[in-house]
Amino acid sequence: MPKNRDAEKRAIARRDGPCCFYCGGRRKNPLTMSIEHLQPRAAGGSNRVQNLRLADTLCNKLAGRLPVAAKLELRAKWHAADGL
Ligand SMILES: [Zn+2]
Repeated sequence: MPKNRDAEKRAIARRDGPCCFYCGGRRKNPLTMSIEHLQPRAAGGSNRVQNLRLADTLCNKLAGRLPVAAKLELRAKWHAADGL
């Protein structure tokens, strides 16, 4: 894993906070999180920070390769569940 991944994670955390895109969980260290491509690379999504979100490795794995709309749906569902 190249070092610039860490820089990207820090940049995303500065913008969004060190929170999981899916469940909204706040993590102490954004470097332990994985980078989620909102628009998947396979679907032409870019590697620019605008397209990147921080997510728990597990949440990222569960979301898999869903299209953006489905990811946003999951996110809304998991955020709601967290607030119960
Ligand atoms: Zn999460």
